[in-house]
Amino acid sequence: MLLAAFAVVVLVRASQGATATSGVTSAQPGSPTAISSGIAAIPSPDPTREPSPSPEPTQTPQPTPVPSFPHMAPRTALPLRQPGEIFTHGDIRWPYVYITVDDCSDWANVEKDLETVRAKNAHITLFPAGKYIDAHPADAARVLMKAVAYGDEIDNHTYAHVKVLPSVTTGFDADLGAQLHAVRQALKDPTYEEWFVRPPFGALDNPYFITAAAKLGLGVALWSIDSNGYQNGSTLRSVMKSVFDTGHFQNGGIILLHSDDTDTAALPFIIDTIADRGLKVGGVLNKILVDRSGTAAADRKGRTAGASDAELVMGREDYPPVQD
Ligand SMILES: [Zn+2]
Repeated sequence: MLLAAFAVVVLVRASQGATATSGVTSAQPGSPTAISSGIAAIPSPDPTREPSPSPEPTQTPQPTPVPSFPHMAPRTALPLRQPGEIFTHGDIRWPYVYITVDDCSDWANVEKDLETVRAKNAHITLFPAGKYIDAHPADAARVLMKAVAYGDEIDNHTYAHVKVLPSVTTGFDADLGAQLHAVRQALKDPTYEEWFVRPPFGALDNPYFITAAAKLGLGVALWSIDSNGYQNGSTLRSVMKSVFDTGHFQNGGIILLHSDDTDTAALPFIIDTIADRGLKVGGVLNKILVDRSGTAAADRKGRTAGASDAELVMGREDYPPVQD
């Protein structure tokens, strides 16, 4: 079933080949392959893009010269949507940044984050680890359902939240599937589909992990801006400095927060300062994919058929022991 669904996605991509340039490789199920992200043909700006949180009807986003991101060479076009593809940021031509919250080990803080972004007419993306959902299932269910109701996004941060070591070759299918299953149980929605996985600690040097992500139809989302709020001794001031004054704050940026007290307290100031610095919160993270009209919708359709909840449960016997 997964293979069939992957084939559907590949066929969809192939049928859209006229819009893509060469240079893209993707992981194939069963044959772990390192991914290199390609450069898409530059499309016309999509007029159907979601309106910005602070409508400014007379202002049209213009391409902006941007220095390179710290993690990779600069991109001049939006990346292709491809399962297993790795993203550290969105389209650098547009003045949007994206806010993500990892781990969700403190559901009260995550709930505060949801209320903060809602009050400011923005959106956020959560990367909960599955073990934190199962640790507090009632709280997690309430907060995750609220996230969906508010139009926010829930993605995959693995179940066990263990650093992916290069020496490990098995268990990733079960682990990623267990996290998706936990999200679906919390939402009471066996069809909920995630868009991205973010490996714990950003560890990406294991092609088996990428292949497992691709089999679930997930892209791999890292970040370009780390608030470091989870660090001991962090303060509101240190978080704001990390986000805005380290040279990483620029078009297409993906901001990494956690559900710690410092980041939660800083979030309203972060959102306000994004506007003060001339950029906008770009919405949920899958918006980095949908600027190219048509592509994301087709991929989404292919992935929806890809991983039934029954298949996810079947994989759980391989599932690694939970670690703290
Ligand atoms: Zn984490």
